[in-house]
Amino acid sequence: DLHPVRRALISVSDKTGLVDLARELADMGVQLLSTGGSAGLLREAGLEVTDVAEVTGFPEMMDGRVKTLHPKVHGGLLALRDNESHVAAMEDHGIEGIDLLIVNLYPFEETVAKGADYDTCIENIDIGGPAMIRAAAKNHAFVTTVVDVGDYGLLIDELKVNEGRTSLAFRKRLAQIAYARTGAYDAAVSTWMAAAIGEPAPRRRVFAGTLAQTLRYGENPHQTAAFYTDGTARPGVSTAEQHQGKELSYNNINDTDAAFELVSEFLPANGPACAIIKHANPCGVARGGTLREAYMRAFDCDRTSAFGGIIALNRPLDGETAEEIAQIFTEVVIAPGADDAAKRVFSRKKNLRLLTTDGLADPATATLTLRQVSGGLLVQDKDNGRIDMDDLRVVTTRRPSEKEMADLLFAWTVAKHVKSNAIVYARDGKTVGIGAGQMSRVDSSTIAAHKAQRMADELGLAETPAKGSVVASDAFFPFPDGLLAAAEAGATAVIQPGGSMRDDEVIRAADDAGLAMVLTGMRHFRH
Ligand code: 5GP
Repeated sequence: DLHPVRRALISVSDKTGLVDLARELADMGVQLLSTGGSAGLLREAGLEVTDVAEVTGFPEMMDGRVKTLHPKVHGGLLALRDNESHVAAMEDHGIEGIDLLIVNLYPFEETVAKGADYDTCIENIDIGGPAMIRAAAKNHAFVTTVVDVGDYGLLIDELKVNEGRTSLAFRKRLAQIAYARTGAYDAAVSTWMAAAIGEPAPRRRVFAGTLAQTLRYGENPHQTAAFYTDGTARPGVSTAEQHQGKELSYNNINDTDAAFELVSEFLPANGPACAIIKHANPCGVARGGTLREAYMRAFDCDRTSAFGGIIALNRPLDGETAEEIAQIFTEVVIAPGADDAAKRVFSRKKNLRLLTTDGLADPATATLTLRQVSGGLLVQDKDNGRIDMDDLRVVTTRRPSEKEMADLLFAWTVAKHVKSNAIVYARDGKTVGIGAGQMSRVDSSTIAAHKAQRMADELGLAETPAKGSVVASDAFFPFPDGLLAAAEAGATAVIQPGGSMRDDEVIRAADDAGLAMVLTGMRHFRH
């Protein structure tokens, strides 16, 4: 099953490593065919190249839209070398076999990521490239297809080991990679078009990503894992620059994403903010007069849980904040930048990963989220719902004070990022108790109150910081009990979606307990 490589077609947009590869091939006696730009570069390097235009008898035309779309090319890629009629057709029409295809596509994803206009994106949809890749990969019985600069080394190794030939197993493996590439490419085109034409619904979509990184393991060491990017290049964990520390793990990436998405809710112009995440849930979120203060206040929410956590900041990391963070073990810090002083401080902490991004995530971005279930994918709009003061309906006799109102909105924003059932106590722009992921809302309330009490114990406070706090619930209180538990813990105001059959009963209980309550009309389940 070894097949010799005698004739190669090279047509690449990304010219990285091209000359070295071509020289190795030429040294092995491989004849090189190539398209305009690629051929020019090879000739400059002193290599002998045949233009595809010479093979087809047609010039490249229509701004490159038509270069390789010709039977002399596609026949050469698709012909079965052991099929009499195929071989006869090659002879009749003067078609020579192509044994190796090296193509990388027009940079469509990069063009979109750069924010190019509609027409420029359209021009960057490669047509001939995917056609050749699909043809060559189909005919992997005879043809080797390379679509990734990262695989050039593998190709040369394979050819050397087999004296100018490739094995069927190798060609099959590369064919599988080739179809992953064309699949991801068209998925990127369709996804971009959906956005460009304003098609909001998650219908008739296709999902694919590009392998960014193989991971050491998944959620657990016995699970293999990898990280794929979708090409949108938004600020976040997928595009962040890592300055130090070992490679991010699967759980690190997941938690860093949760941390960054949460902290991005807090506009830098409205002051510094910090979120600390453990197991995809916040264990402390706070605003502060300075970034250092925001971190310290977030840390104080739940010092025990914050150990080994992931920290996200809404402003560039500075030296004094880094100094404070360096006091305990932290897995990852992500921020929209870091100054030299901060980097110097962290250079002492070899295991700490520092990630910087180009700005914050935009919480209002309309994207889709995916979740796998056995045998399928669940697709939905990302929860980018936001409320402000005007959306709130006060339903109790007592209106929240201005201070309560500010804390209610803060608690609500955090609750959106807490796994359901979510209960968040907050006071003075800082969470004081978070109950996450319980099957009953009352249990989440109890846990949140318990955390507040533990904070009091840890900090040596005379009373629980839940006293005088506000509380947010990600979904309505089905019964008054959860609400009453919050009142008992010391909350004075409540924010929740409303919409329960028993809203009247819940509102009456709030009035009886002297609570102020506002309804958002919007739920933030997160599972
Ligand atoms: P070059 O820089 O060699 O002139 O062009 C290389 C690029 O052209 C590659 O990305 C390849 O996928 C693409 N390409 C090759 N043939 C065709 C074709 O017939 N139509 C289009 N639109 N692109 C092609």
